[in-house]
Amino acid sequence: MAARFVRRWDAVRAAARSSLLVSCRRWSGASTDTVYDVVVSGGGLVGAAMACALGYDIHFHDKKILLLEAGPKKVLEKLSETYSNRVSSISPGSATLLSSFGAWDHICNMRYRAFRRMQVWDACSEALIMFDKDNLDDMGYIVENDVIMHALTKQLEAVSDRVTVLYRSKAIRYTWPCPFPMADCSPWVHITLGDGSTFQTKLLIGADGHNSGVRQAAGIQNVSWNYDQSAVVATLHLSEATENNVAWQRFLPSGPIALLPWSDADHTDFIDTAGAMLQYAVGLLKPTKVSARQLPPSVARVDAKSRVLFPLGLGHAAEYVRPRVALIGDAAHRVHPLAGQGVNMGFGDISSLAHHLSTAAFNGKDLGSMSHLTGYETDRQRHNTALLAATDLLKRLYSTSAAPLVLLRTWGLQATNAASPLKEQIMAFASK
Ligand SMILES: Cc1cc2nc3c(=O)[nH]c(=O)nc-3n(C[C@H](O)[C@H](O)[C@H](O)COP(=O)(O)OP(=O)(O)OC[C@H]3O[C@@H](n4cnc5c(N)ncnc54)[C@H](O)[C@@H]3O)c2cc1C
Repeated sequence: MAARFVRRWDAVRAAARSSLLVSCRRWSGASTDTVYDVVVSGGGLVGAAMACALGYDIHFHDKKILLLEAGPKKVLEKLSETYSNRVSSISPGSATLLSSFGAWDHICNMRYRAFRRMQVWDACSEALIMFDKDNLDDMGYIVENDVIMHALTKQLEAVSDRVTVLYRSKAIRYTWPCPFPMADCSPWVHITLGDGSTFQTKLLIGADGHNSGVRQAAGIQNVSWNYDQSAVVATLHLSEATENNVAWQRFLPSGPIALLPWSDADHTDFIDTAGAMLQYAVGLLKPTKVSARQLPPSVARVDAKSRVLFPLGLGHAAEYVRPRVALIGDAAHRVHPLAGQGVNMGFGDISSLAHHLSTAAFNGKDLGSMSHLTGYETDRQRHNTALLAATDLLKRLYSTSAAPLVLLRTWGLQATNAASPLKEQIMAFASK
């Protein structure tokens, strides 16, 4: 009796969570669509890495995975001499994930730059904070997005028997299963592509970026706002040779400016990824009284052709999962790049979701069931909401030159710099 009540209660709860799913599909029972165990919609850095993580998981050896990407296949026949200005700061935790399915080896054979120190300072005061690793471990790696994508594509090709990848294939409609099992109702999610082809899946993973169609079709609420800033990304040439393993970040009232180490020691190129206007970069990064003390590199010239602008905003999905649906990467959370954490958060989502799905597969459980999807949601919302809130607070705190707030943040930065255990905790959190 009690067991029946619990089963009914579970069904009612599942139905309540499903009530926002936009439509159920009447099922003729005669559909010939291929049924995939998992479909990943969106093959950016996060979606492609998700497909790799599942494709190389031993407990998924008998599963069928489909990766859908609206854009073309991105292959790097050969590395260009000039560096791409789309780079990411990759945490050691993300490098471990990429290593787990062999993609990190490709990156190491191509091009990346490790950094061991990070210096952050305030343009309105003398306050600064220095993060460095005593034990000479790497704090992170600067890698071109194209290089990461190439490595993932190579690894996907090697598991093409398990993972099917369809490029230039935009999903235009998702149709949800009925919340209760019914004779004339399909139990799986149906996906329709722009060319009219259709597929079914037991679990749909939305990795389709911050304007996620999966999230919208599932009716999942998204808290979001745009910042009054755009990021300018460009390659800078420095006027002197530097140690080239330090990441620099300076908070200006107009937004943060970061210089990430790049290239070999005999070059002096840096990638600049910043919320500030570029003219500030050139003017203010020349050594001033404060910066001379901290020895930041000075900028000789900006590679004008490399300049690109990205509007910035914050977004967070109220739920990461629904029955047979999970959101990962920017589809679940969009963060200001001042902490260089967006793709790292997405890779963290993959580690967690792949772990929960692998356990479910090992135990012969239904992959789309909420019993393990909620485990993923709890793990990741705890981590991601803390990072989103901290990043948003920093962005707002440093967007002002009002004296009380400058005083507060100066004190905060200096106190944090003096408190080694706190600094270590921040480094440990950011390196996940
Ligand atoms: C200037 C800047 C600097 C940054 N620097 C860093 C950094 O240093 N470190 C860091 O960790 N993060 C950084 N980020 C954030 C990082 O770039 C993003 O978090 C990350 O790229 C998000 O990846 P994603 O795969 O989730 O989404 P996206 O990159 O948006 O990929 C989504 C993919 O889904 C596809 N798609 C969309 N709709 C459909 C559909 N209907 N059907 C099929 N496919 C579809 C798209 O074609 C796209 O390929 C930075 C961001 C910016 C703007």
